[in-house]
Amino acid sequence: MAGYGGTLVAGAVSTVTRNPDGRFDVRLEDGRVLRARRLLAASGVRDVLPDVSGLAEHWGTGVLHCPYCHGWEVQDQAIGILATDLGTSIHQALLWRQWSDDVVLFLNGCGEPDGGQAEQLAARGIRVVGGKVAAVEGGPQLGGVRLDSGELVPRQAVVVFSRLSARAGYLADLGIEPEEQFAGGLYVGTAVAVDAAGATGVPGLYAAGNLTAPMTQVMAAAAAGLAAGAAINGDLMAEDTRLAVEAHRR
Ligand SMILES: Cc1cc2nc3c(=O)[nH]c(=O)nc-3n(C[C@H](O)[C@H](O)[C@H](O)COP(=O)(O)OP(=O)(O)OC[C@H]3O[C@@H](n4cnc5c(N)ncnc54)[C@H](O)[C@@H]3O)c2cc1C
Repeated sequence: MAGYGGTLVAGAVSTVTRNPDGRFDVRLEDGRVLRARRLLAASGVRDVLPDVSGLAEHWGTGVLHCPYCHGWEVQDQAIGILATDLGTSIHQALLWRQWSDDVVLFLNGCGEPDGGQAEQLAARGIRVVGGKVAAVEGGPQLGGVRLDSGELVPRQAVVVFSRLSARAGYLADLGIEPEEQFAGGLYVGTAVAVDAAGATGVPGLYAAGNLTAPMTQVMAAAAAGLAAGAAINGDLMAEDTRLAVEAHRR
């Protein structure tokens, strides 16, 4: 980045406001203020995990959410699916079954599979365990799922349905309020609304990546950043030309 003239500044942004001259004031938590004509927000999401003890400690290692991110690594292992929504957890169980023939669905008080669902689970050899889940346990490696009954079901990986909350608090002063996102009618998190070029409703403010599309992955996030970068350049070019024409006329 530096080789192409960019400057990398370490620090957390606390607020962004619009300066009277139209530029953005980007305020860091340590008090520094950076000024910019255009801004591309790419601050991603916060993963909101179900409220079950032990999940956060193992997040991204033994506690997983996405078969396309982690399936290869846990193939043939003992996998548990922790239900927080019955339909979603059955969908997850069937997906993760492609990676292992030892998949257990923990119903966790989310209801009972209906006849058709039970038949699918049985046909794919997915064991269903009733009762509420108290915790996931283990040391550095995940050990298993502890039920309210006290029983420990040994598992090497546990799959959850995490919600994805847009990290956009620092944009609130500009009027940016993330919108709720749904997939198949299910609440999945929040996102900042943008057009195809990444422009938000605030002139000069662009956003890309998971901040605007929480369900997408690295390649899509990078592609969105590229598209927004090109749009910002076009935007700056138009402004520079307008200013040059005004100066030329004077
Ligand atoms: C456990 C897990 C595994 C995954 N595995 C894969 C995988 O194998 N393949 C794949 O393609 N995708 C994977 N993903 C998804 C992938 O991580 C995201 O899609 C991708 O990182 C999104 O990129 P982004 O740039 O939009 O956001 P991020 O990568 O989240 O980057 C946002 C950055 O902004 C910073 N930030 C946030 N707020 C502020 C602030 N106020 N001030 C300063 N900085 C701030 C954050 O610290 C972070 O560095 C995985 C996700 C998770 C949770």
